[in-house]
Amino acid sequence: MAVLPIVKYGSEVLRKPTERITEIDEALQKLIDDMIETMYAAPGVGLAANQVGISRRLMMIDLSVGKRSGELHICINPEVVEVEGIQAEDEGCLSIPDFTESVQRPLRAKLRYTDRNGTEREMWGEGLMARAMCHETDHLNGTLYVDHLRGFKRDRLLKKIQKLAKSGMWV
Ligand SMILES: [Zn+2]
Repeated sequence: MAVLPIVKYGSEVLRKPTERITEIDEALQKLIDDMIETMYAAPGVGLAANQVGISRRLMMIDLSVGKRSGELHICINPEVVEVEGIQAEDEGCLSIPDFTESVQRPLRAKLRYTDRNGTEREMWGEGLMARAMCHETDHLNGTLYVDHLRGFKRDRLLKKIQKLAKSGMWV
């Protein structure tokens, strides 16, 4: 297993919708293992494949960051198929390190996906889990949480990132 470099905001691969996965082969299993290690090393509660530069429809969530067994969800071709309610909490992203902003998300979300054994699954998540489901599937569609911000909050964040990029601190 290997820790992969995480690409940052501004990288094109984060803006391209990822390709659906048609075969769960050895290369995909290796990518999954590497992504797990990368997510835990970061550390983060979720990771999408295009965040490690691979434009495939694969993401993972572990709210315990590897501390509790049974909390790691490997999601192939995931789709949020139902949402309920609304929440607004601070949200961050491994591709936009050291920043958080309050983002509005559904309170509950239902995710449909295939696991790494090829079994089709459905899962309801609430609170942080619903937020992670929406954040990671957004990634796979080329969307970032900054896209959900408006006006002053968005301008302020993007200006700070631009400043870091100019000073060579955003690579
Ligand atoms: Zn993210």
